[in-house]
Amino acid sequence: MPWNPLLPIISSRTMKKPPDLTKSVPAYARARRFIAGGVNSPVRAFHSVGADPVFIASACGSKLRDIDGNEYIDYVGSWGPMIAGHAHRHVVKAVSEQAARGTSFGAPTLAETALASRIAAAFRSIEKVRLVNSGTEAVMTAARLARAHTGRDMIIKTAGCYHGHSDFFLVSAGSGLAENAIASSPGVPKAITSLAVVIPYNDIDAARAAFSGHKGKIAAVIVEPVAANMGVVPPVEGYLAALRQLCDENSSCLIFDEVISGFRVAYGGAQELFGVDADITCLGKIIGGGLPIGAVGAPAEIMDLLAPDGPVYQAGTLSGNPLATAAANATLDILDGTAVGGGIPASRKDCYARLDSTSALLEKGLLDAADSSGVTVTVNRVGSIMSCFFATGPVRNFSDVQSTDIDTFKTFFAGMLARGIYLAPSAYEAMFVSLAHSRDDVDKTAAAAAETLREIAG
Ligand SMILES: *Cc1c(COP(=O)(O)O)cnc(C)c1O
Repeated sequence: MPWNPLLPIISSRTMKKPPDLTKSVPAYARARRFIAGGVNSPVRAFHSVGADPVFIASACGSKLRDIDGNEYIDYVGSWGPMIAGHAHRHVVKAVSEQAARGTSFGAPTLAETALASRIAAAFRSIEKVRLVNSGTEAVMTAARLARAHTGRDMIIKTAGCYHGHSDFFLVSAGSGLAENAIASSPGVPKAITSLAVVIPYNDIDAARAAFSGHKGKIAAVIVEPVAANMGVVPPVEGYLAALRQLCDENSSCLIFDEVISGFRVAYGGAQELFGVDADITCLGKIIGGGLPIGAVGAPAEIMDLLAPDGPVYQAGTLSGNPLATAAANATLDILDGTAVGGGIPASRKDCYARLDSTSALLEKGLLDAADSSGVTVTVNRVGSIMSCFFATGPVRNFSDVQSTDIDTFKTFFAGMLARGIYLAPSAYEAMFVSLAHSRDDVDKTAAAAAETLREIAG
């Protein structure tokens, strides 16, 4: 049996019922024989925390259950989509009813128009959308649209923001300010990365320098308006508005990648929260309610460039899939107060107020736990996404994140998992709170954090 690095950490703890991972350990070994790396997305492998993954059997509400029968309070939420909680009955009903009526037609359906009109109503900057199958696809289409619309090729990206796994976006900063980017993965051609400029997040001077260094060549700036793929890093005051102004001055498109923040930090995403509009918006995660989906949205002037009305090609066999749109509409029903039933918020306002108050309690619980143990942390929170960084100062960009104490995070992660709290297995990921998280969940999480941090403090 392969050695699971979590086991010694867990067995040295004094919890009531240590998780028994007897089945997860061989399950991972077998997965590694037939799946590259044993997982279908790298972060699931727990490599960043030096451990092996837990295999999940089922989930309900705020809880995950692994194949050994251990239960965890889940703060990953499938990396964002599960804002209503797992297996929400309203979503399950919608998906099962649709499954019985057929799972894919390759022809238009009413649910696609319903979803598109709800997205357009949620975002002032969106008149039309195109549904795709993932966030990656949404960003690919957004970039193509921005280039077609401006007739330019270069795109400015901020370090630490994630925009999916397509060639163009697997880039990191080269040396020197406003230098061309370098590929962050083998297999990405130089010819492609030469069209990217990577600048630090929250640094408007760097954005200005990038524009003046490439005058008349920038098709777009793409940014996560609330960065959540280097842990949560909120935009500093005025940053998004300054990007908006720079794009206007240079006739470039501002692309907001709201794959995480859309319908999360507010119903209308970061654009509603900060009052800054994008030219092109990318959505995903939440809008699929746990099924594969993505969307790109913009004013008609830009969206009408897409085939079949326009010359810009984009397509998808399963795009606007009936199961995904059923889950999507059911999830939006829950978020906008259209759905009725026990436990479902009565209105959009109630929904986001509940997410915020649960998350504020959790933030306070983590800060109190840190205080009482003497371990220094920085908690960054925007609504129901947050990160607990082991850092003494503010965390405002990717280099700040990289200088946080990653080793302490690993110990924290293992200690929390041992106590039944499932955090993202990486210091570079957010915690996601859902409508299903209860006060009791938060209290248990805070108590687990206090115990774990006391152990860390020694
Ligand atoms: C998850 C994510 C993506 C990629 O979405 P997939 O559905 O995984 O392809 C793109 N952008 C952001 C901001 C994301 O968080």
